[in-house]
Amino acid sequence: MQCLLCQRPLATKLSLAWLLSWQIQPRPRVCSTCWQSFMPIDEQACPGCGRSQLNRQPCPDCQRWGPTLNFHNRALFTLNDAMVAYLQRYKRQGDYRLRAVFSTIFGCAVERIHADLVLIIPVTARALQIRGYHQVAGWFQPELGPVQLALAEKKDPQPHPRHFRLTGDLSALVGKKVLLLDDQYDTGRTLRSAASLLLESGAKSVVGLTLTR
Ligand SMILES: [Zn+2]
Ligand SMILES: [Zn+2]
Repeated sequence: MQCLLCQRPLATKLSLAWLLSWQIQPRPRVCSTCWQSFMPIDEQACPGCGRSQLNRQPCPDCQRWGPTLNFHNRALFTLNDAMVAYLQRYKRQGDYRLRAVFSTIFGCAVERIHADLVLIIPVTARALQIRGYHQVAGWFQPELGPVQLALAEKKDPQPHPRHFRLTGDLSALVGKKVLLLDDQYDTGRTLRSAASLLLESGAKSVVGLTLTR
């Protein structure tokens, strides 16, 4: 088997360094050199957006947003050069095999959050058509629940000012903990607008989970 990222053959014998690394995949899909080029975010992170930092105080970005009651984001990795290169290949060049690099770790993070409902931030039909797949669904595909998050359409009678709408049985949201999945937390605008819509519609709390911050 070869490393999905650098194509070097994967060592069959696990080294101690490998075992001590942050690798939790049962079957390594990338070599230890490639894996260690990513920077996992540990407990030392902003409680609002999940950014890696040296304390657990809200970061300057989150202070600007002000507290959004009942919403916070968790991120798994810092957006360093290795991650930018990965996302370039996986998202822009459409190499679907690369979903396997993070699918296990992303799936485990979803499980750990124990949400009542898991929703993916939707992408435009055009983005889906160009890439051929939804990048987040490549890592984790939630079951189709009673409520779905969709992009607001121009013909919607009253498009949500923040470009999302909910479809399905909205009563299923009431009092629920909702997990929202996205690939990156950048400005936070997208996740926060979807979270506000869910909270306004009756959700008890919303947690975001992103691969990067
Ligand atoms: Zn490699
Ligand atoms: Zn923050």
